[in-house]
Amino acid sequence: MKTLLEGYARFRKNIWRRHQKRFSVLARDGQSPPAMVIACSDSRVAPEMIFDCLPGEIFVVRNVSALVPPYAPDTNNHGTSAALEFAVNGLNVRSIVVLGHSLCGGIRALMSEGKHGDFIGSWMTIAEPARVRVCDSPDSADKNFAELCHACELESIRVSLANLLTFPWIASRVADGTLTIAGMHFNVQTGRLAPVAP
Ligand SMILES: [Zn+2]
Repeated sequence: MKTLLEGYARFRKNIWRRHQKRFSVLARDGQSPPAMVIACSDSRVAPEMIFDCLPGEIFVVRNVSALVPPYAPDTNNHGTSAALEFAVNGLNVRSIVVLGHSLCGGIRALMSEGKHGDFIGSWMTIAEPARVRVCDSPDSADKNFAELCHACELESIRVSLANLLTFPWIASRVADGTLTIAGMHFNVQTGRLAPVAP
C-alpha cells in the first residue's frame, strides 16, 4: 500500500500537473477514445505503457489472459462483454486490439493438467479451442512446454478475434468498414510487439 500511495504522490506532483488541462477537457466533453484494448491483467503488460497513450486515448478492459468470450446475452455477469458493448455501441471506437503476451500464467494453467481454482479454470475454457489446436498440431510432440504455451498464447488471440465477430454489432461494423479488429502479442522479455493474423 505504501508503494501505491508514494506513486500517487508522484502522480499528483508530476503527471497530474502536466496533463491537468487534458483531464479538464475530458471531464467537460467526455471521453471519445478511438481504440479499445483487451489485455491480460498481468502486471507486466500495461497497455497504456506499451502504446504510450495519454488519458482518454484508449479504452481498456483487462482480464485473465486477455480473452473475449463468445456472444452470450444471458443473465450471467459478462464483464468483458459489457465493456465491449459500451466501447462499440456507446463510444464508437474505431479499432479493437486483443493484446496477448509471453509467459502468460492463464495460458500456462490452461496447458497444465489439473483443476485451477474456483474461477480460473472455468474462465480459461474460453481458450480451450486454442489448446486443442496446439495439442493436435503435427509438430506438438517436438515442442517443450514453454513452446506449447507460446503457441497457445497466439492461438488464444485468434480464438478471441473469432469470438469478437460473434457479437452482432461488432460483426456488422467490421463488415461495413467502420471497425477494425487486430491481434497482437507482447514479448515481456524483449519488449517487442508482434501482429497476430486471425
Ligand atoms: Zn497473461
